[in-house]
Formats: sequence, structure tokens, C-alpha cells
Amino acid sequence: MTGSPFRPQLLCRLKSGARTSTTAVLSENLLADTLPHAAAAVTSAPNNHGVNFTDTKELFSSVSSAKMLRSLIMLCLASSAPVADIGIWVMKSKLMDIPLCRKAVFGVTERTFYRQFCAGEDLASASATARELWDTGRTAMLDYGLEHANDNESCDVNMEEFLRTIRSTKSGVESPISFGVVKITAICPVRILKRVSDLLRWQHKDKSLNLPWKLKSLPLLADSSPLYHTATRPAALTAAEERDLDAAYARMAKICRNSIDASLPILIDAEDTAIQPAIDYLAYAAAVEFSSGEEEPLIYNTIQGYLKDAKDRMVMAKKAADEMRVGLGIKLVRGAYMNSENRLAESLGVESPIHDNIHNTHRCYNECADFMLHQIARGSGSGSLVLATHNMESGKMAAAKAVDLGIDKDSNRLHFAQLYGMAEALSFGLRNSGFRVSKYLPYGPVDQIIPYLLRRAEENRGLLSASSFDRSLMRNELIRRVKSPPVHGKAMQMPTSEV
Ligand SMILES: Cc1cc2nc3c(=O)[nH]c(=O)nc-3n(C[C@H](O)[C@H](O)[C@H](O)COP(=O)(O)OP(=O)(O)OC[C@H]3O[C@@H](n4cnc5c(N)ncnc54)[C@H](O)[C@@H]3O)c2cc1C
Repeated sequence: MTGSPFRPQLLCRLKSGARTSTTAVLSENLLADTLPHAAAAVTSAPNNHGVNFTDTKELFSSVSSAKMLRSLIMLCLASSAPVADIGIWVMKSKLMDIPLCRKAVFGVTERTFYRQFCAGEDLASASATARELWDTGRTAMLDYGLEHANDNESCDVNMEEFLRTIRSTKSGVESPISFGVVKITAICPVRILKRVSDLLRWQHKDKSLNLPWKLKSLPLLADSSPLYHTATRPAALTAAEERDLDAAYARMAKICRNSIDASLPILIDAEDTAIQPAIDYLAYAAAVEFSSGEEEPLIYNTIQGYLKDAKDRMVMAKKAADEMRVGLGIKLVRGAYMNSENRLAESLGVESPIHDNIHNTHRCYNECADFMLHQIARGSGSGSLVLATHNMESGKMAAAKAVDLGIDKDSNRLHFAQLYGMAEALSFGLRNSGFRVSKYLPYGPVDQIIPYLLRRAEENRGLLSASSFDRSLMRNELIRRVKSPPVHGKAMQMPTSEV
């Protein structure tokens, strides 16, 4: 099983560039952490470990001015708190029950935020966007925008959508699709995920609890994991609940078999801690069944660095996977449910599972990345990592560490990923330096994707404010292009396909 054998043509030039020691990069990061304004200074300073964010001409060479201007406007609007608040209010208001208003709101959203952050209504438009990414040296993680399912019928329908996406990538030639994205919440009813998570948590407290339905998996909870969601001993699964769980695993297994057939690894999204143990359970059980004895993992499960138990759980899973000879893939994110997690913990009067401050989250994320990079450097069968982040410092630090450890920049074991329409400077900088870079590409009908956009807007105010560095680079590049007009129509880069 291999991922897309992607070799961007633009890449090789910086392969022999001078290196900076990881210590130096660590100090840069510490400086950025300690002094709020130092981050900008660090990122704009020339660096010598291969990732260049200073030369905007090179960075955005494949982006047309029109596209860059549109992105700049959209990012400015999306990061404005009043715009987000009004948008969220309108979408949730009774106005949406009036057909004319609904049509108008969807129309405006489609032409603005949807176009910036989503790849289109269907597979054909998502594939076209993936091809555009490919033309600029990046690949796509295809994510059919599905929300949580509450019954088996919706889960079956959702599974068919995942299968359609996966089968569409089966081409036999180099593919612009690097991963398929699967949401367990779309193929297993959420009430079952809650019940299973409760039982897994209780079993962690009371090892004598027998769970007859439990498949061979990897460790799910650590001693540092929060157990407060399950205050009392949960009842055993009923026969009907067990059937629902079996059906969910059967869906997962079918997705895995199709992914193997299409040579397409899959990413499993992480959600909130109330249901995450069940998500990890299904993901790792499938990894044990489908990645045993495999060098390259089929399944990449997500670890959220904002959780206090993130590193413990990741290290335990990795150790067990090594002992069982299971190829383990990890997608590392910081985490998108901070507000709701904090609110719930506060309402229950318990300690939040989220790190006490952002510096601890940064530290945890970077330590997890560091751990996995060391594993990758050990060589064959040692795991794979998708570093999903918009954080410049984490991106630069991981890139420098990979170089220090002698990991091939084009290794299939290390991918960087950003959401489509965001963090273009980081994506282009890493790509130009020779690393594999993918964009996470949500697609689907506008009315179906709107909940996705809403969730992003509600949960991730910070996420969009982090686009300020990107925006300032785009602004600089646009000004540069205006000041240095094209020589006989050449300098103003207009690629054949818009990025
Ligand atoms: C390709 C891709 C896939 C993703 N998949 C998932 C997924 O499956 N599940 C998921 O949950 N998220 C997912 N995300 C979103 C991700 O978790 C982050 O919300 C987002 O990327 C912002 O984090 P950052 O690494 O870019 O860093 P930054 O923008 O530097 O950091 C912001 C993050 O830091 C954390 N943070 C902020 N303030 C505090 C504080 N006071 N205390 C502690 N921590 C704080 C939060 O996690 C916040 O999102 C994904 C992101 C990408 C790019």
C-alpha cells in the first residue's frame, strides 16, 4: 500500500541548503512564545534551514494577483469578529426559515466564504480543485463535508459518500489526492460513540469490567486522561447497541478495504473528549486489522495537542503498535473544540482536559511532533506523521528537525497539511523547500457545508486571526507586483490555473 507517489517538479533546489541546529530553532520558538511580538520578527527574519517566508515573489509565484486579492479580502472578512458574529447570528436565526432569505444568504455565502474555504459542490469540482493544487506542487486531502449521524440509515448513506470519494481516486497514475478523510461521527451514531466511550473509560478505571464486543485495538486512555464524563458505572451495551456498533465497524472495514484497493491512506478526524475514546477505538481496531505487518499505515488517527493527555496517549499507542507490528499513522493537530471542552468542564466543576494556556499547548504539540519525527528517523516500519497546523513556528521547527534527523524531505512518512484557503505562506514555504504539503479540502453542497463553515467560525476565532501573517505577506506581494509592473506582460505571474 502506498500513498500518492507525488514528486513536485519544483522542489529539489533547496535540498542541499545549509542547516540550522534544532537548538537554534528551539530558541527562536521560545522567544516567540515568551515575547508576543517576537513571533513576527522570527518569521520575517531570514532563516537558513530551507523554509523561506521572506521572498514573497518566490512564495506566491504560482498565485495570480486576482486570486491573491480575493483571498486577502476573504481572510480579512473571516477574521473580523463582527462579521463572524453577524454571520453566525443570521445562519441560526428564523430568517433562514424564509425561502427567499435562505436563498440570498446561501448565494452570498457560496460566492464568498464557501469559494475561499471549500472545493465545490461535488466530486468533479473537488477533483478540479485538487488538480489545481497539484499544478502548484501540493496535494489534496478530500473531505466530503458530513455532519454527525444519528441513525444507521444516515450512516449507510454517509459511508457510500466516503466510498464514492475513495473510489474516484483510483487511477493507476500519479494522483493529486494524498488522503481521504473519514469522520467516524458520520458512520457511527453519536449515541453509540457516547455509550462506547463511557464503557471504555469505566474499563480504564476498573480493569475487571468485561467488554465482550471489544476488538483488538491499541491503548486508548492514559493515567492522565480525563474520566469525568463517566461518573457512574455505565450499563452494558444492549443487544441492539452491540448490533449498531458492529455495523459501524463493518462500515469502517469496508472503507478500509476500498482504500487499500485505491492505494489511498485515510485520515480519521478527532472530535470532543466525550466521544473520542470510541473514535480512537474504532480507528485503532481498524489499524490492527488492516495495517498489521504493513510498513506504510493505512489509517492516520488524530491526536489533539491541546489535551493534557495527548502525548501520553500517543506514546502508548506508538509503543503498542511497534510491539504488534502495526503501521501507525498519526495526524497531529492542536484541537478545535477548546471552548466547548472548557465550558463543559467548568459546568461540571472539574479540571479542564485542555492545557491551561496556549504556551503549554504549543509545547505539547511541538513535543509530540518531535517524538514522531524521531520515530520516523529510526527507519522502516516506524510510523508516519501528518503535521496539520497553520502555526509558522511549529512548521519551521518540524521542518528543521526533520532535516537535522536526516529524514528525506520527500519522504512519504512526513506530510504537512493546512486547511484549503488558509495558511498559504506556510504551505508554499514548505513546498518550495521540498516537503510534501497537502491542503485539507472540504467539499459538498452549500447547504450541507454551511454547518462546517459555522463550526469553523464559532470554534476557531483564533484560527482565523492566525491568518494575519499570511495576510501581511499577501499584501506585501500585491504591493510589490503593483510597484514592479510586468516586463512585456511577464512579471505579473498569471499561471494557467488559478491557485
Ligand atoms: C489539515 C487539518 C486538519 C485538522 N483536523 C482536525 C481534527 O480532526 N480535529 C480537530 O479537533 N481539529 C482539527 N484541525 C484544527 C486544529 O485542531 C486547530 O484548530 C487549527 O489548526 C489551529 O491550530 P494551529 O496548529 O494551526 O495553531 P495556532 O493557530 O497557533 O493555535 C491555535 C490553537 O491553539 C489552541 N489554543 C488556543 N488558545 C489556547 C489556550 N488559551 N489554552 C490552550 N490552548 C489554546 C487551540 O487548539 C487553538 O485552535 C485541523 C487542522 C488542519 C490544518
